[in-house]
Amino acid sequence: MSLIEASGLCKTYQAGDIAVKAINEVNFNIDVGSFVSFVGPSGSGKSTLLNMIGCLDSPSCGELHVAGTDVSSLDQKQAAIFRGENIGFVFQDFNLIPVLSVYENVEYPLIMVQNWPAAKRRKQVMELLDAVGMKEQADKLPSQLSGGQKQRVAIARALVTNAKLVLADEPTANLDSVTAHRVIELMKSMREKFNTTFIFSTHDPKIMAEAEVTYTLVDGSIENKEEVAS
Ligand code: ADP
Ligand code: MG
Repeated sequence: MSLIEASGLCKTYQAGDIAVKAINEVNFNIDVGSFVSFVGPSGSGKSTLLNMIGCLDSPSCGELHVAGTDVSSLDQKQAAIFRGENIGFVFQDFNLIPVLSVYENVEYPLIMVQNWPAAKRRKQVMELLDAVGMKEQADKLPSQLSGGQKQRVAIARALVTNAKLVLADEPTANLDSVTAHRVIELMKSMREKFNTTFIFSTHDPKIMAEAEVTYTLVDGSIENKEEVAS
């Protein structure tokens, strides 16, 4: 079953008089529960594509369906609700809130979006912290964690609302290669555990090989699709 269907999808940015074609009529389908990467050099369109899938930016042309919803038809408020209900985000620079503890960072999306009762929230947050191996660090502040630990917390935060889809834009760019592999492995094991679809982007050749399906972006076009038997 497809979670994401893109056909003839494009994005053009206007930079002064010049129109920049960041994404140029791409077509792809991503299945529920798959582990997918978009790879390509800086400027190839990875962030633009992930931002459209994540309803942070809207397409200039073509069609994009995420979880059965035509996301290009959503207004800003509807897009925010759709994101809250369906999508978790992991960022290159972790984006943890410095004044909140590990526990509070993971709890934050539940308070902001879903308004869960306190006891249910606590159970969910602790389950996720346990799943990413950060239960013992629940009371620490982000500044007391290593980069790899911060990204573990960010992965727990992305999953805490039971997101169907996690989008990770260059999640390993600020990590050493050993830690980068561990973070990808953790995302893979979370996929197994929760059947969440994971899409990450990278320009690191060592990390690309970790995905089951790898799309190579060049100048906004998909040049190649590679599938590895799982
Ligand atoms: P990547 O994430 O692969 O580095 P991006 O998606 O950020 O690539 O950028 C793709 C292209 O779109 C680049 O040429 C970039 O300069 C351009 N671009 C991205 N965002 C904007 C914007 N807000 N305004 C104008 N041009 C943009
Ligand atoms: Mg980018």
